[in-house]
Amino acid sequence: MNLFDLTGRVAVITGGNGGIGLGIAQALAGQGCNVSIWGRNADKNKAAAASMAGLSGKVDTRVCDVTDPASVNAAMKATLDMFGRVDGCFANAGIGGGGRRSFIERTEEEWRTMFATNLDGVFHAFQAAARHMTERANAGDPFGRLVATSSLASIFGTARNEHYAATKAAINALVRALGVELARHGVTANAILPGWIKSDMTAGIMANEKFVANVMPRIPMRRFGEASDFGGIAVYLMSKASSYHTADTFVIDGGYTAF
Ligand code: NDP
Repeated sequence: MNLFDLTGRVAVITGGNGGIGLGIAQALAGQGCNVSIWGRNADKNKAAAASMAGLSGKVDTRVCDVTDPASVNAAMKATLDMFGRVDGCFANAGIGGGGRRSFIERTEEEWRTMFATNLDGVFHAFQAAARHMTERANAGDPFGRLVATSSLASIFGTARNEHYAATKAAINALVRALGVELARHGVTANAILPGWIKSDMTAGIMANEKFVANVMPRIPMRRFGEASDFGGIAVYLMSKASSYHTADTFVIDGGYTAF
């Protein structure tokens, strides 16, 4: 038995059209998983699908804004119509802190926007997926994987980015609660905590020489992470290999937190 063969499985990846989400989608499709990539930008969705030509899993894309439950529910319905089932939901879409500012200057709008995407977005995607997964479990087919992309910001004190940190810490609590609640349906819930990873979100800060000079010596592996570094954990969490692993958080940071 190949523990990591995902042939016949179906996974949704929100924010799967770039960065970490695309790394996850490519790895899953490489193991035979059919994937549905959800993002707001149709051109980015198309380009992401094109980058996956030749992989063994089929690729579907959906224009979806995770802040809007109607948009998420429509994307879930379309994915179910296309593939007939959804076995995994990677709630990865997120926005960064943007221009950092002090807490006392934080605007109501910045706070709300951050929570709408990074936390409400996970709620919407997980709830749509869990409804389907628990229905299927009740019909005798118990299998589901909920995986959220959290951040080291959830466990570090991140000054001037407290709204981002708060959304990510909430995600860690969410997967612990869901891991307990949904275990009886065969559905696991876990979160991935990336360290410093190259993507559109971090391109600005990583172009700053002072930042690189400060951070790089604190990363034992002496490099920033790549989206492809998330393929292994995604395949593990999607596969049978992780059947007994739930309500947990996985730090993928090149050793940064340990140093
Ligand atoms: P990117 O900016 O490359 O990717 C973000 C993705 O989210 C894009 O695909 C974007 O697609 C999508 N997205 C954003 N808002 C929405 C929305 N409202 N609805 C649907 N999709 C949306 O960043 P990363 O790959 O770096 O980030 C992925 C996740 O990893 C995020 O949750 C981030 O917080 C987390 N993370 C990243 C770290 C890093 O160092 N890069 C470190 C720790 C955590 P589109 O614009 O088309 O909607």
